[in-house]
Amino acid sequence: MKPNTTLASLRYLSGYPPQIQHQALALIEQGRLAAYLLDKYPEAHQVRSERALYDYVVEMKNRTMRKAPPVNKVLWDSKLHVIRNALGTHTFQSKVHGSKLRSSHEIRIGTVFRTAPDGFLRMIVVHELAHFKEKEHNKAFYNLCCHMEPDYHQLELDMRLYLTCLELGQKLY
Ligand SMILES: [Zn+2]
Repeated sequence: MKPNTTLASLRYLSGYPPQIQHQALALIEQGRLAAYLLDKYPEAHQVRSERALYDYVVEMKNRTMRKAPPVNKVLWDSKLHVIRNALGTHTFQSKVHGSKLRSSHEIRIGTVFRTAPDGFLRMIVVHELAHFKEKEHNKAFYNLCCHMEPDYHQLELDMRLYLTCLELGQKLY
């Protein structure tokens, strides 16, 4: 493995303190990153179709954010992983239909999560659902994420380690 490849692949961890980046780098250099992830997350989820994804999102929304407006559309989006750091998107539109104002919520999840452990998909869905209430990535937003998924921060770190693995050409599932 070329060292510059290794450093470039750490872009997914650029928001973390140096200590965490060094630990990740050590795992990569020792060739243990994939094993670390597979040990914690032995299997991929089975949510493959768009219908299954829609049901997954709606079920989670009804369990955690019952009062929020309904989700209209849920899609796997193959373009999302191309734009680094946009792993999912949530769009809200208000349209005037005659005299009525209708809102629509659409969630797109990067296809990179179609073959991934359930925890990573859950973390991304929680993130996008939290945007129903908080548009910004502020403290209230992350409090909401942790309320819906207590392990949110650990899952995000592991999910970024997983993307790092893929970047290094190691397919796990
Ligand atoms: Zn966000």
